[in-house]
Amino acid sequence: MDDLVDFLGIDAFLTEEERASRDLVRRYGDEHLRPNVARWFDQEISRSEARDVLRGLAGIGLLGMQLSGYGCAGAGPVSYGLAMLELEAVDSGLRSMASVQGSLAMMAIHTFGSEEQKSRWLPGMASGEVIGCFGLTEPDVGSDPASMRTVARRSGSDWVLDGTKMWITNGGIADIAVVWARTDEGIRGFVVPADSAGLTINDVPRKMSMRVSITSELVFDGVRVPQDALLPGSRGLRSALACLNEARFGIVFGAMGAARDAFACARSYAMTRQQFGRAIAGFQLTQGKLADMLVELEKGILLAVHLGRLKERGLLQPAQVSFGKLNNTRVALDICRTARTILGASGVTLDYPVMRHASNLESVVTYEGTSEVHTLVLGQALTGLDAFR
Ligand code: FAD
Repeated sequence: MDDLVDFLGIDAFLTEEERASRDLVRRYGDEHLRPNVARWFDQEISRSEARDVLRGLAGIGLLGMQLSGYGCAGAGPVSYGLAMLELEAVDSGLRSMASVQGSLAMMAIHTFGSEEQKSRWLPGMASGEVIGCFGLTEPDVGSDPASMRTVARRSGSDWVLDGTKMWITNGGIADIAVVWARTDEGIRGFVVPADSAGLTINDVPRKMSMRVSITSELVFDGVRVPQDALLPGSRGLRSALACLNEARFGIVFGAMGAARDAFACARSYAMTRQQFGRAIAGFQLTQGKLADMLVELEKGILLAVHLGRLKERGLLQPAQVSFGKLNNTRVALDICRTARTILGASGVTLDYPVMRHASNLESVVTYEGTSEVHTLVLGQALTGLDAFR
């Protein structure tokens, strides 16, 4: 069995195209990203490094790869998911940058934008020249975005935005922000250039997780944008949630990439680390851990591919994405923590990827709907009763 593990032979059920694009991302990650990732995590990736990473990912067609037209690759859901898995096998921060660009910012413009907005922004976003972020969360508004306070008011033919968005991935490197704000007509989406007067962007310092991506606060103080900044097709919070559903689908795959990397590291460490005169892989307790990790890893990948096949057929329901996000982020974090125990003290350093993946996954279980929120989504699907409030 090689270190990348395909115990159940899932590869055989992927198309040639899916395998080829997966292999391309894996190779690119190994050659261009993995050699730098511990340093980026250690020192926190800089804005210029993050922009360079996104331009590199654009070079292999990853930005908005699941969208069609406007310079996007038009890849199928499983190819897209596997690309996210391979990126996250290097670092969740890299996958976050790509997810936010492609599945949140580009997706919002692609789905809810006018023809003029799509032609203006999407080709540059696909090529990595224009970076986007997606502002929904606020300092006091996280799991319950319907309570958002950011407002957009009409002023003549313009809109004026006031409020604060918080925890915004790619904020500090963004050229444009897709921002969700309360209006007289309900919640709507706006495309706001990052250099607009009155918009201040501050990066969140001292994160202990996702140090390979930039996370920022966006403060809107009377930011005036023209009428054509409004995404005309955006209608209420459900438009923002539709984008999140798309990004979550990528997370279902991505989380298993981090888990696979931690598992492979723990397995190879166990084979060579000697204690009590033998490799620790020979102890039953270690084998029990490896077997349990493998079972959860392979189940998680099967689940992700299954959801991808449903999506291909247009059958995937949001609650099924919640099922995938809840399970796969949870088991990925468990796998990383177990891998860390196999590495003993070495596991707490940046010389090995397991602790880095585990700390990143603490964010992944929280963003795009926390585990608790997805549990309640499933509870509602099962009972018809809303337990959110
Ligand atoms: P809260 O909503 O305050 O929740 C705190 C706790 O209470 C959680 O455990 C939650 O599950 C629990 N809770 C809340 N309501 C209930 C309930 N009804 N029942 C039971 N438990 C409940 N946001 C963006 O808009 N754009 C981004 O690009 C983005 N990137 C991010 C990047 C990182 C690294 C991180 C950490 C976050 C990012 N976020 C982003 C924000 C993220 O989506 C929010 O953190 C998330 O929605 C949770 O909101 P909160 O942190 O305010 O937690």
